Amino acid sequence: MLEKRFDFNKMYGRIVRYYLDKKHYTKEKANMIAQQVVRRELQQRICKNSECGHLLHDHLRNNEVCLISRCGCEKFVRA
Ligand SMILES: [Zn+2]
Ligand SMILES: [Zn+2]
Repeated sequence: MLEKRFDFNKMYGRIVRYYLDKKHYTKEKANMIAQQVVRRELQQRICKNSECGHLLHDHLRNNEVCLISRCGCEKFVRA
């Protein structure tokens, strides 16, 4: 299964809107929560190979060779 390029901006905006509209949080609090969620999502999509550190969608078929030039990573490493 191929994962599409993840749109963090879109996700961020959706979270902020949710906490503003549905939870009636302050703008500051909604932004804080969105930052935390997006950061966590990003961490899950970063290769844990110490020489790599590139995103999941930079790897062939999302788990094989890293496609970033000069990167020697041959397999996506999950946390
Ligand atoms: Zn890489
Ligand atoms: Zn990698």
